[in-house]
Amino acid sequence: MLLIFCPCCGVERPETEFRYGGEAHIARPADPSALNDEEWAQFLYMRSNTRGLYAERWRHTHGCGRFFNAVRDTVSDKFVCTYKAGEPKPDLEALAREAAK
Ligand SMILES: [Zn+2]
Repeated sequence: MLLIFCPCCGVERPETEFRYGGEAHIARPADPSALNDEEWAQFLYMRSNTRGLYAERWRHTHGCGRFFNAVRDTVSDKFVCTYKAGEPKPDLEALAREAAK
């Protein structure tokens, strides 16, 4: 069973308590009405779809209910770290170097 550490609760819980929320750190445009259709589609649908370390949003739906971010390796499905929403994105290249040791 995959366990995920919730940084809000401070506990590790089974993945069945969580819901995936897509790529993390996607900023909503400051003025959406100023975008053309292509730019709006880019914001809504286009994601990096990285192979390897990927920053994602998760929600502890059957726990505290809060959103948080996680870095997960999309190849091994292992969570490298989790952090609260609003905290800066970790240096993914440094984490990848650390994981390769
Ligand atoms: Zn929680």
